[in-house]
Amino acid sequence: SEEKSLNFIEQIIEEDIANGTHGGRVLTRFPPEPNGYLHIGHAKSICLNFGLALKYNGQTNLRFDDTNPVTEDTEYVDSIKADIRWLGFEWANELYASDYFEQLYQFATKLIELGYAYVDDSTSEEIASMKGTPTEPGKESPYRARTAAENLALFADMRAGKFKDGEKVLRAKVDMASPNMHMRDPIIYRIRHAHHHRTGDTWCIYPMYDFAHGQSDSIEQITHSICTLEFIPHRALYDWFIEKLNIFPSHQYEFARLNMTYAVMSKRKLLQLVNENHVTGWDDPRMPTISGLRRRGYTPASIRQFCEKIGVAKRDNLIDISLLEFCIREELNKTANRVMAVLDPIKLVLTNYPEGEVEHMQVENNPEDPTAGSRSIPFSRSLWIEREDFMENPPKKFFRLGVGLSVRLKSAYIVTCTGFDKDADGNVTTVYATYLPESKSGTDNSGLTVKGTIHWVSEQHAATAEVRLYDRLFKVEDVGNAEGDFKDHINADSLHLIQNAYIEPSLLEAKEGERLQFMRKGYFVVDKDSTPGRPVFNRTVTLKDTWAK
Ligand code: ATP
Ligand code: MG
Ligand code: MG
Repeated sequence: SEEKSLNFIEQIIEEDIANGTHGGRVLTRFPPEPNGYLHIGHAKSICLNFGLALKYNGQTNLRFDDTNPVTEDTEYVDSIKADIRWLGFEWANELYASDYFEQLYQFATKLIELGYAYVDDSTSEEIASMKGTPTEPGKESPYRARTAAENLALFADMRAGKFKDGEKVLRAKVDMASPNMHMRDPIIYRIRHAHHHRTGDTWCIYPMYDFAHGQSDSIEQITHSICTLEFIPHRALYDWFIEKLNIFPSHQYEFARLNMTYAVMSKRKLLQLVNENHVTGWDDPRMPTISGLRRRGYTPASIRQFCEKIGVAKRDNLIDISLLEFCIREELNKTANRVMAVLDPIKLVLTNYPEGEVEHMQVENNPEDPTAGSRSIPFSRSLWIEREDFMENPPKKFFRLGVGLSVRLKSAYIVTCTGFDKDADGNVTTVYATYLPESKSGTDNSGLTVKGTIHWVSEQHAATAEVRLYDRLFKVEDVGNAEGDFKDHINADSLHLIQNAYIEPSLLEAKEGERLQFMRKGYFVVDKDSTPGRPVFNRTVTLKDTWAK
């Protein structure tokens, strides 16, 4: 059938709707920790959470998971909001886990009263050493037997700032013999005398992820709380808190996180790349961040399309980055105007073309889009062509230039190479050719056909541009599982900078963010570093095929 089959989360939601669970209501959330910029892995989670809500007539909350005061920052909050909107999604409510600190404190107090939590004076080393192993049970803390009254007083003192960092923690009293290590009396509050980006110095105790996350879901009455597979062992605890507190029963579902070849997908590692200047910033076009992909020339639709194609799996896998490239190439093929730019120039002189004459060649903007129109490009006796389009000793089937060979200059004339000059080092400096006046594109009655077509820019009309060609940021496919430190695998040649490319004059008008196809060279976007008269272009992706077949 034409219908795409449902993924496993859609199946669950459709069953819930059919059974009237939560009144058939769907409320998802996207819960980023504001400790870095979003990356393509987050895009997968965003497309999933917002996509499900759209599909099932529900809503999605944006909740900042800001329970760790040390690593979080408002700069990240702002970038996250901008990136989600850019991807094309709008949240129902902008929420912060830190807004629930008082409520979470009350939940913790309730657990203490119920005998399900206690204050532990053990050091973190002692707690770790009593944790046991997956095959042998842990040991109960000597503080586990404290009375509720004693625990309530101590917890209040923790909040009041009477203790130093690490002096005490609040632990859930679950089961030190549980086969699930997360159930062995997990820490739910710790002391942190640190300034928080929103609550300032109001708090010196902060809830741990496991205590904050599920309860935040429950407070918001989230129906489907979707997270990545590594949280499977946390689910029992998620359910335990909800059951013991007798609060709204949100439910957690897990899917496989996105891993992509030649990329790292952890904010901690991405931050290292930024801080240690391996890249120019979070939005460096080589970064797998949303802001990096945007600056690279990716569109929101191409990223959404990628997320759609990779689907929702229950097992970890490694997605080939070429799938992402395929998605943007497909879109730009339909939408990007074709222009001419010569990246590695040599001069071509048409010896029989009148000196001083200028013609204006009509060029179709986009053969894939009949509504895109056309423009005119100046043509003259002296042109720039790509160095690789000429060979001194061309092999058979080289359908470009070499002495005696003919080629069509795109949207202009057929030319035949007659000779060339070399400098003292043996580098070709100028190629000479004659043109065939009756072969002009559109009015060609020369009767000749040639196999190759090459692009060009008129020397006297050319503008110059900086062009940045990017390669993979890493040399190995599976960076996450490669030996040694991930930074050992950084590709030192991931940026090829061209200071002076020659571009057709129309490109001086191109605006930041505009996407174009440089014929035969790939898709490019105008970078924010552009200045009037000197645009900067980033290559988004190469063309799949050149048309110089
Ligand atoms: P990181 O390791 O990059 O710091 P994180 O999971 O700690 O990732 P969060 O800000 O907590 O980052 O993530 C917000 C949401 O995005 C979470 O629900 C998380 O599961 C999801 N997410 C993060 N990375 C990926 C990924 N690679 N693939 C799919 N979802 C992801
Ligand atoms: Mg997280
Ligand atoms: Mg993280």
